[in-house]
Amino acid sequence: MSDKMTPIIKIVGDYCNLRCKYCFYHGKDQSAVNIMSYSLLEKFIKEYTNLYENNLTFNWHGGEPLLAGLPFFKEIVNLQNIYKRNDQIIRNTVQTNATLINNEWAEFFKEYNFRIGVSIDGPEKSHNQFRRYNNQKGSFKETVRGVKTLKKYGIKVGVIQTVTRENIEYAQENFNFFFSDLGIKNLGVNAYFDSIGSNKEMINQSVSNEDFIFLLKNYIDLWLIRDDPTIRIREIDNFIAGAIEKQAASCNFNGSCTKFFCVNCDGKVYSSCDRFSEQQEMFIGDLKQQPLAEVLNHFNESECKLKINSLPDDCIFCEWKQFCHNGCTYHRIGGINGKYYYCEVRKEIFNYLRKKIRDI
Ligand code: SF4
Ligand code: SF4
Repeated sequence: MSDKMTPIIKIVGDYCNLRCKYCFYHGKDQSAVNIMSYSLLEKFIKEYTNLYENNLTFNWHGGEPLLAGLPFFKEIVNLQNIYKRNDQIIRNTVQTNATLINNEWAEFFKEYNFRIGVSIDGPEKSHNQFRRYNNQKGSFKETVRGVKTLKKYGIKVGVIQTVTRENIEYAQENFNFFFSDLGIKNLGVNAYFDSIGSNKEMINQSVSNEDFIFLLKNYIDLWLIRDDPTIRIREIDNFIAGAIEKQAASCNFNGSCTKFFCVNCDGKVYSSCDRFSEQQEMFIGDLKQQPLAEVLNHFNESECKLKINSLPDDCIFCEWKQFCHNGCTYHRIGGINGKYYYCEVRKEIFNYLRKKIRDI
C-alpha cells in the first residue's frame, strides 16, 4: 500500500437537521436518514486499521453525523478497540453543526478524546442568514448552546466559518465574536464558491477574489493586533508557512487532496473529501463489493488521481507552486484539473505576509 490515505466517513449520507442554503448537499433528497449499517462500519474499521501500521485518523461527517445517534458512536470506539493494532493510536474527529450536543454527547466526546469541529458563521445576524432549519428558523441559539456545552466539559472546539458575499463585510464583528464572545482558539475559513453554478438561489453569494483578499487582510491585521499566540486561524497558518517557505498543513495548500477519500453510508467510496461525494468522476469503488485495499490501490493508479495532481502551466512556472499546488480541487474552474479560482488571493496574501514578516 502506498502513502497513507485518510477517510472522511459520511455515516448518515447527506442527511441533516438543517438546510443551510449554501450547503453542497442543498437540493439533495433529505426525506429520510440513511445510517451506515453496523456490518459496513465493522468491515470498514477492520480493514482500515489493518491497512497501515502507523497512527490513524477517522473523520466522521454527514450531513449531520450526530443524527446517527450515541449508540452508533459507542460502537465506533468499541470496534476501533477490537481491531486496532497494539501500537496504533486512533484519533477521531467530528464535524457537526452542534445543535444536537447535550451533556451526554459532551461526556462521551470528552471520555474518548474526540476532536470537534463546529460550523458557525459568526454572530447571530451572520450565522442565521443561511444556516437555518427547514422551517427557515435560524440555528444560532442551538449551535452556541452546543459549543458552550462542549466547552463546559473542557473540550477544545475548532470552528469552521463559511463566508459569503453578504457576511464578508462584517470581518471585524465576526473576528470579535469568535475570539472574544465565544472564546474559541481555532478558526478555519471556507469561502463560498459554487464552481459549477448548481445552486441558483446562491448564485450572487459566491465570494470573489477581491472579497476574499479583503477578509483575509482584515483577519491578519486583527490577529496581529490581538497578539495572542494561542489563537490560530487555519488560513493564516497556511499562508505564513508559504511566506516563510515551509510546507503548510492543509490539503488545499500542500497538494494532499488525493490522500483523502470519502466513504458514503452506502459503502460507495469517492476520491478526496466529502465535497465530491456522489460525483461520478470521483467514484473509486464500493466497499459492499470490494476490500478497502483494492479500492485504494485501484485509485492510486487511476486517471482521476493524475488529473487532480496535474498542474496547469501557470502553476508550473509560479513562484508559489510548492506552497499552493493549485489550491482546492473543488474550487478549480473547468473541472478537477482546471485552474484554482482563488489564485489571485494566494499570490496577494503570500506577498502581503512576506512583506509583514520582513517588516517585523
Ligand atoms: S498562486 Fe496561482 S499560479 Fe501559483 S500555484 Fe497557486 S493557483 Fe497556481
Ligand atoms: S477537495 Fe479541497 S478540501 Fe477537499 S480534500 Fe481536496 S483540496 Fe482538500
